[in-house]
Amino acid sequence: MSVLDEVYREILLNHYQNPRNFGVLPEASRRAGGMNPSCGDQVEVMVRLEGDTIAEIRFQGQGCAISTASASLMTEAVKGKKVAEALELSRKFQAMVVEGAPPDPSLGDLLALQGVAKLPARVKCATLAWHALEEALR
Ligand code: ZN
Repeated sequence: MSVLDEVYREILLNHYQNPRNFGVLPEASRRAGGMNPSCGDQVEVMVRLEGDTIAEIRFQGQGCAISTASASLMTEAVKGKKVAEALELSRKFQAMVVEGAPPDPSLGDLLALQGVAKLPARVKCATLAWHALEEALR
């Protein structure tokens, strides 16, 4: 395992064991959920918009390490961003894990999930929270 793989593994483990922005957002203005029957992952994403800025975001649900870490990383990545910026980030992230596109450096810690592109059975785990986010924002 390369040093970079080890760093990515630790980021994922950290977010799985200590998910960020986890819980209910009572004042949510948008919410959407989804599930991934093949793995048993469930997620609900709650967003509070201020104008077109994601002022607050939280998620709840249960799932495997990849789905939980991806949801946690997603909330950190899009909090404080404009809706259009969040959707662009979602597009870049999905290009990386679904299509195996060269990772965009602007993805930051989300790059830790790039290895999922080589694990077809786990792609839906990694994209679950992002699909819910897109639905909530649209
Ligand atoms: Zn899963």
